[in-house]
Amino acid sequence: MTFYPLMSLVFRFLLFVSFLVLIIACYTSGREIKIQTPLDRLSQGNEYFMKSTSKDQILNLKKGQFPYAVVVACSDSRVSPELIFHEDLGSLFVVRTAGNIIGEYEMGSIEYAIENFHSSLIVVLGHEDCGAVSAYLSNSDKKLNGNIQEIVDYIKEEEEEKSLPDTLSYEILLPMAIKANVLHGIHEVHKSEIIKSSLADKKLTIVGAIYHLVDGHVEFIIE
Ligand SMILES: [Zn+2]
Repeated sequence: MTFYPLMSLVFRFLLFVSFLVLIIACYTSGREIKIQTPLDRLSQGNEYFMKSTSKDQILNLKKGQFPYAVVVACSDSRVSPELIFHEDLGSLFVVRTAGNIIGEYEMGSIEYAIENFHSSLIVVLGHEDCGAVSAYLSNSDKKLNGNIQEIVDYIKEEEEEKSLPDTLSYEILLPMAIKANVLHGIHEVHKSEIIKSSLADKKLTIVGAIYHLVDGHVEFIIE
């Protein structure tokens, strides 16, 4: 066999092997592709949290918590108090419901923090474009599914909402209704005997706040 036919044979062999490797690679990589589920994402996030957070910091919080503020916030995923106030674990006692409404369980949670951790500040935090307040303004005679209607009905009963003019357009009324809902929260918190006692001892301040989605600014409302 001459040199050139031999080279041609080797070249064809190498081409075949490369093709075979490519097929195997595609097949095996295809089999290894795993779609990340929401639970996978949480689990990986927690692994990262454990790796990136000081072990001492975590262990130190096992001894107890001393949150300096209670934040009553909406459950909206864009308004996480620890993130928007740039706070760490153990600093904020957070109570969240859609529409930052305060029923018995929420009030009990706030009182628990004031009584046990002596937090010196309560913030009732609403936010721009709140879906719960928007649902209240848009609510017709048709009932919302499940317990969602309960949230709308709660807001509907607020005196602060009832005092708003009903002649305004939805766009103008929404921010006013969001503020009225925050004011209602402040007024509700003042009804608690535990809170009254802390206020009398001048150990507590209560403020409202609105988080602006457009730029991340928190506007405090001090009555
Ligand atoms: Zn909301």
